Amino acid sequence: MGIDKRKAQKGKWRIPEKSLFLIALALGSVGSILGMYTFRHKTRHKSFVIGMPLILLLQLLLAGMLLYQDMTKETTYTGIGMGTVIVVDAYGRDSGQAADDIAALVTDLDEYSLSWRKPDSALAHINDRLLAGESVQLSAEERSRLEEILNLCRASDGALDITLRPVLDLWGIEGDNPTVPDEKQLQTVLNNHTGYEKLHITEDGILSAEDTGCMLDLGALGKGIACDEIRERLENMKITGAVVSVGGSILTYGKKPDGASFKIGIQDPRGEQGSAAGYLTLGGDMVVSTSGDYEKYFMDGDKRYHHIIDPETGCPADSGVISVTVVSRSGMESDGLSTACFVLGRERSQELLKQYDAEAIFITEEKQIYISDGLKDAFQLINEDYEIMEE
Ligand code: AMP
Ligand code: MG
Repeated sequence: MGIDKRKAQKGKWRIPEKSLFLIALALGSVGSILGMYTFRHKTRHKSFVIGMPLILLLQLLLAGMLLYQDMTKETTYTGIGMGTVIVVDAYGRDSGQAADDIAALVTDLDEYSLSWRKPDSALAHINDRLLAGESVQLSAEERSRLEEILNLCRASDGALDITLRPVLDLWGIEGDNPTVPDEKQLQTVLNNHTGYEKLHITEDGILSAEDTGCMLDLGALGKGIACDEIRERLENMKITGAVVSVGGSILTYGKKPDGASFKIGIQDPRGEQGSAAGYLTLGGDMVVSTSGDYEKYFMDGDKRYHHIIDPETGCPADSGVISVTVVSRSGMESDGLSTACFVLGRERSQELLKQYDAEAIFITEEKQIYISDGLKDAFQLINEDYEIMEE
């Protein structure tokens, strides 16, 4: 589950051409000053006395302009990673490098760390062992991450449960032939092979499962975890600001060059993909995660069967909300909480959100929008089909 840092592509050390040019300008300026000083007794020509300071001024101006350009350099990138769309909008000298690094980082996280689907991932190796009835020695990083995740499962009263994979497979919502499973089979799998409480980590970091059918699925938190890792990477680069979206989780980082806040659209749950019900205006260093019943689903008549499962019933959660957005500094928490709050519904989520110091927006089936106090001033409604509710 911990990413193999050797396989992750790091930013290459380099001096950009612009920096070399700036160094040349600086050296030129120093040369001019020295020249003026050395020959100050030898020439009193007006052209020299006025010309030299003018050249110096021009050089400084040019250097300032180049520096400003460097700080405001913008790179945008769109690609695919973690089975979703990755969009990067970064500002600063290293913005081009940052976009490349982020794309590689997300691919590596998926391939070698978090995806149960990828045979070389640390998670797949853990699952292989658990399914074989064996225990697994976790690395320190894996252990602390898994403990945090299990705490989140516990705090949500099991609304977030990372062991639901066998139930999700019965529904097949992510596949080509989704179906409503046989009730008896569903209950058998739910009772016998799921439940995060069946996972145990010893003092020495050894993970075991009470049941041989138990496996881990971090689909509810992976994109948020990616946002946390991306933030860490950006901190080590010359980036002044960035917005990075990894599917339903969006990281804001630093500031825009003009100091303006970031505008984050909240998907209209019943609109076209990319159309917003409203938007949030936020500063840097936040992660905004949205869980909605429109992401993966199939219809049976009027009934919508979506991908967020209520662990109590084994069926798609039916808490009256169709979209939940959670804003938090931690990507993992914002992503995990958005899924948990979708299962719990608005009222039952309040304590959990308070516990994690997170803010949220709930959109209900009746197209009502409930916004927590900390986000009220930040939210702007665009689509008038929705109504903002005062609690
Ligand atoms: P998200 O879009 O972040 O809400 O995550 C949804 C994904 O998490 C689904 O596609 C499943 O893989 C997984 N999942 C569904 N229901 C749950 C649940 N109650 N707890 C944990 N993971 C879940
Ligand atoms: Mg989530």
